[in-house]
Amino acid sequence: MPRVTGSRYLLEIKDKKILIDCGLFQGPKENRKRNWEPFPIPPSEIDAVILTHAHIDHIGYLPRLNKDGFTGQIISTHATAELARVMLLDSAHLQEEDAEWANKKGYSKHSPALPLFTIDDAEACLKLFKPCHYGDDLYPAESVRLKFKDAGHILGSSLVDIKHIHDTETTKKILFSGDLGRPTEPILRNPVQAYNVDYLVIESTYGDRLHDDKSFYNELVRIIKESVERGGILLIPSFAVGRTQTLLYIIRELEERGDIPVLPIYVDSPMGMEATNIYKKWKSVQNLHSRVLTIAGKNIFQPTDLHVCDTRTKSKAINDVKGRAIIISSSGMLAGGRVLHHLEQRLPNKKNTILFVGYQAEGTRGRAILNGNDSVKVHGTQVPVRAHVENISGLSSHADYNEILAWLMGFNRPPRKTFIVHGDPDASQSLADKISDTFDWDVEIPAFEESFILDI
Ligand SMILES: [Zn+2]
Repeated sequence: MPRVTGSRYLLEIKDKKILIDCGLFQGPKENRKRNWEPFPIPPSEIDAVILTHAHIDHIGYLPRLNKDGFTGQIISTHATAELARVMLLDSAHLQEEDAEWANKKGYSKHSPALPLFTIDDAEACLKLFKPCHYGDDLYPAESVRLKFKDAGHILGSSLVDIKHIHDTETTKKILFSGDLGRPTEPILRNPVQAYNVDYLVIESTYGDRLHDDKSFYNELVRIIKESVERGGILLIPSFAVGRTQTLLYIIRELEERGDIPVLPIYVDSPMGMEATNIYKKWKSVQNLHSRVLTIAGKNIFQPTDLHVCDTRTKSKAINDVKGRAIIISSSGMLAGGRVLHHLEQRLPNKKNTILFVGYQAEGTRGRAILNGNDSVKVHGTQVPVRAHVENISGLSSHADYNEILAWLMGFNRPPRKTFIVHGDPDASQSLADKISDTFDWDVEIPAFEESFILDI
């Protein structure tokens, strides 16, 4: 009987309670306020947590769950566990900083303002992790078998395949998609084809949208070449985990094909480089093409002239770079991080280019620049936007609705019920309609905290 609460799903089998994902609510304030509400059941009653992948909207509540009484195992793939360490410590650090800032400015309702969790809380919950390999048979409860299978979304991402074994003859399967990846993903394996699924819980982030991939490589080549012709800097704000590694991979590929000249590439994101090291380490979970390149002696995340800025001095030294270079820095929506220093320095010069390669949420500096604002506030001062502004889509790590339908088309039989989750209401409704129109499957969009009794 799962209860659906955004990116947290509680599965009760017999007397066991298993939580699939334990995400932080993000985005608008009314969403984030939910993080401060008590967990719907006492965390001490949860026997285990299973993670689909390491994005904060799937793991970011773990330190709080642990602090409020959960002491069971957190089961994930190795790569997810390693990325989760990077993500949770960063999230804790940001929360501590925010609380400190709120206290200084005196704008918090709480006095003193407190972080949702601290670095110590994050460290404590990291001790509960039990990392596993894809394909391992795991038993989080008696007669409940768990397997992680490739989801192709970010490194370590998994479909969570749970079988309830009644006897050797009868088993029932529930499959959680987590976030589903894409067939065009350059580094990771495609989502594994699932079979014999009785109940499916599937995400719907892009349930009402299609990606425009065709122009991605061509557009990137054009933007890089134009930037070189102007003799300017190309600044790419990028999410540290996933997007930065894909960019390095693609830039190396374009250089090798001779589509772009060899340029100095500066990666100024400590978290991005930690994540890149984890991507490099887990070659075994990359796709065949990437592994062939590795065996042939290539470092797939290393363009020819790569500079990693692992100290503040090296980061500051980028200020002296005059032009004909690419800077990749976080955060991806210009909300904070080292990218702001580069923005402040590069935005006022019309030789330079700022390139967005990811979604820019309302209210962020990234969105303001895309909307054509002629200045943005950085570190307390208004910085004029004179640089060229470019935006390319197609680097998303979420399957669009056709890609989701294509994956579902491979099922050997319809699930008894398909639950559509993890999307804006319009996106979820659109995906539900498409699945029932295309396959005539029984679909359901669960409400927040709604529960269902499953025949398993
Ligand atoms: Zn994700």
